[in-house]
Amino acid sequence: MTDTILALNVGSSSLKFALFSTDSGEWPELLLRGAIEELATAPRLKMQAADGTLLQEVVWKDSGDIDAVLPSLLDLISAKREREKLVAVGHRVVHGGRDLSAPQLVTTDLLTALDDLVPLAPLHEAQNIAPIRTLIRLRPELAQVACFDTAFHRTMPDVAARIALPRDYEAAGIRRYGFHGLSYEYVSRRLREIAPHLSKGRVIAAHLGNGASLCALQDGRSIDTTMGFSALDGLMMGTRPGALDPGVLLHLLQQRGMSVAQVEDLLYRRSGLLGVSGNIASDMRVLIASSEPSAREAIDLFIYRCAGQIGALASALNGLDGFVFTAGIGEHSPIIRKAICDRLQWLGVEIDEDANSNNAPVISTEASTVEVRIVPTNEEAMIAHHTLSRVSGLRTPDA
Ligand code: ADP
Repeated sequence: MTDTILALNVGSSSLKFALFSTDSGEWPELLLRGAIEELATAPRLKMQAADGTLLQEVVWKDSGDIDAVLPSLLDLISAKREREKLVAVGHRVVHGGRDLSAPQLVTTDLLTALDDLVPLAPLHEAQNIAPIRTLIRLRPELAQVACFDTAFHRTMPDVAARIALPRDYEAAGIRRYGFHGLSYEYVSRRLREIAPHLSKGRVIAAHLGNGASLCALQDGRSIDTTMGFSALDGLMMGTRPGALDPGVLLHLLQQRGMSVAQVEDLLYRRSGLLGVSGNIASDMRVLIASSEPSAREAIDLFIYRCAGQIGALASALNGLDGFVFTAGIGEHSPIIRKAICDRLQWLGVEIDEDANSNNAPVISTEASTVEVRIVPTNEEAMIAHHTLSRVSGLRTPDA
């Protein structure tokens, strides 16, 4: 009987999952994957085989939470893979704080440490911990591993992690942590396999999805990133503004009398592409298809701010050898990639238009001094890899 590992990635409104076989060496082999969307309101599940074939769709009548949905998910998965045995579950956990710099087996002590981190990521950490607790209750025999989105950035030097507030604030944990770490770790490891010459050099990876950030990689390790203390910093995103003059916050609170909850809603859910487009959409595909000037303005701002922050990270790296596009927009949008690259000509970036239109693995010309690549990310594979290595007691080379 083959052993399997389930990777869970719980977001604000969805749960992504992927089941892997443990038989296939360093990178576990994908068996099936899927997502449950609109978790809190009208949960809908879609499950696909590794080749994309639809396996199952389920719509639940009642609004759900993790407690209600997880038992059904485990049943549905085991019905599809009767001959395999689930032995471990890996979780994406958004915040590991200063101390949790590598994936950890879940223990009572770890759960206490994670509870203590909730104030650092109030919107996400508790959501990530909930399925861990549910599974301890439902399936106490399963090993569980927490994989932190911040961990990959623990190699950032202090100068990149420090915030220019008085020192006692930093001592209290107010510093730049960075996020999307599982995605960047996956990209960095893939580069080592497919472009070893680049992985030793100075590379910027751009994770451009609904959430978006950049990571400066030196020798495969993060030395700076655009998200900071929270996932609000850095690039403009689907519904978040990215880096924002803190004076705006004071103005909203003091002059406009907005409550903290209203400001939080504005910053996490009503800004970015959605807000600037005048509520046309947070989805880049919809904006590209729109003929409204405000949609164009939102796209232009996204590109302008992205290129500017690439410049800042190129300075942190003291030059640039490679650039990687990943995540939804990065992997699938030739228009956005070209527009960003056109603003990077001063760095020596030159795009091959055909390769870019075809989403080719390398989209720069021979003459380009920066090699520009598309590397599809796979956070669930990274979670499964870490889970397997923790469960089997192996240490991965530089985990
Ligand atoms: P998440 O951050 O939720 O995991 P994804 O990485 O899937 O999101 O990225 C979602 C974003 O990718 C959306 O803005 C979507 O419009 C965009 N996207 C996906 N495919 C394309 C495409 N072909 N062209 C432009 N944008 C795309």
